[in-house]
Amino acid sequence: MSNYNPKSMKAEEFISHEEILKTIEYAEKNKRNVELIDSILEKARPKQGEFGFHCEGLSHREASVLLACDIPEKIEKMYSLAKEIKKALYGNRIVLFAPLYLSNYCINSCVYCPYHTQNKSICRKKLTQEEIRDEVIALQDMGHKRLALEAGEHPKMNPIEYILESIKTIYSVHHKNGAIRRVNVNIAATTVENYKKLKEAGIGTYILFQETYHKESYKKLHPAGPKSDYAYHTEAMDRAMEAGIDDVGLGVLFGLEGYKYEFAGLLMHAEHLEAAFGVGPHTISVPRIKRAADIDPTVFDNGIDDETFAKIIACIRIAVPYTGMIMSTRESENVRSRVLELGISQISGASRTSVGGYTEPLRPHETEQFDVSDQRTLDEVVYWLMTLGHIPSFCTACYIEGRTGDRFMSLCKTGQILNCCHPNALMTLTEYLVDYASEKTKKLGFEIIEKELSRIPKDKVRDIAKRNIEEIKNDNRRNFRF
Ligand code: SAM
Repeated sequence: MSNYNPKSMKAEEFISHEEILKTIEYAEKNKRNVELIDSILEKARPKQGEFGFHCEGLSHREASVLLACDIPEKIEKMYSLAKEIKKALYGNRIVLFAPLYLSNYCINSCVYCPYHTQNKSICRKKLTQEEIRDEVIALQDMGHKRLALEAGEHPKMNPIEYILESIKTIYSVHHKNGAIRRVNVNIAATTVENYKKLKEAGIGTYILFQETYHKESYKKLHPAGPKSDYAYHTEAMDRAMEAGIDDVGLGVLFGLEGYKYEFAGLLMHAEHLEAAFGVGPHTISVPRIKRAADIDPTVFDNGIDDETFAKIIACIRIAVPYTGMIMSTRESENVRSRVLELGISQISGASRTSVGGYTEPLRPHETEQFDVSDQRTLDEVVYWLMTLGHIPSFCTACYIEGRTGDRFMSLCKTGQILNCCHPNALMTLTEYLVDYASEKTKKLGFEIIEKELSRIPKDKVRDIAKRNIEEIKNDNRRNFRF
């Protein structure tokens, strides 16, 4: 092992099929091993340290035992632990964002995705820079500050230059008090050179879903096009990190393969990035396959029910406590209510998955990527979050202050989140309430902010936050942040 270098590992080494099978077998064998399960839960419990809570996390094997466990009493314990970790490390904040679909032109053949090249029933569209500007104004007028850019893979129609120009356009739009302060990007796997260009363009997180870690299934699900190269796709995050992007977002599309396989694969991928670059993934997304033009989700036999979905989220929260978790509007209000407290830290709100959907909302959804289950407005989502005890946050401060990668992790690990993210959440919520909220949302929001201010531990930080909130209410905008 003397020449062990995780940076030079290939996809099939860090996502070892044999190790995943052994993990599933080990988990199955131990799923009722009460002593082992208790010791795993104990290991993962938040411990009080000098600066706040610290969590150790779990290995993919340990976490897989929890996922396999079918003892109701232990599952309840897992849920309580996931809630405890979420509360200790993230508090009650939920960060809001919206996807922005730039283009659905695609040369891939992913069998689950309506963008697949053979699909003639979908209307193809690519936004011009003028149209992007209009979409961004519509998003700013809702109150959004953070976007996730989405595009199909098409070197001619959507080359990297188009993506870079679009990012520039998005950051340049300032409508009334609006601004997009963080653009995350979900585009196909690309080269180190292109990742460097994305980094220079000022992206936040680079997100790429693995779809499935199972190589054989991957091949069947991606029969043609550049995305059919399993190794190139799986090693994308290594290239992104090599290019200097230190916030990367993982995910699998649940429903394509067995969830236990995907779960172990996700955690092994996270372990690999931590070993190779000293920082794990910034986020993990948990999309489930949905109906779309030419796509019937029932033909994929690995669909997971809501209970399993909740268990997966709880187990991810316990296993990788410092990795944020993202849930999209693929999920309904009911499901979202249930799993938010189990570990989700970011959700999308008022999403349109069609190209141009924010400016032409009444048009039939002929360019949509998938059906949206949560159809509420952003104001409704913000109000609903607050009634459930969450603080909607529009904060992008870490990104602006350069607290990405291991610098963000150290903020988490030293327990400074309550002195930093909490006041930032309250200040950005104030901005939202003043600029965009309905009277009902405003009233509830200001009551909650008043109460939440008292939870900021440091007197000095609390005083500054209070003063800044008053300034924002008096329409003095200086992008206050900690
Ligand atoms: N072209 C990029 C790529 O290949 O990764 C971005 C892909 S797409 C715009 C974003 C994600 O949508 C995909 O990675 C996939 O997981 C998800 N997706 C595709 N079809 C879906 C469906 N029918 N239901 C739910 N999610 C889907």
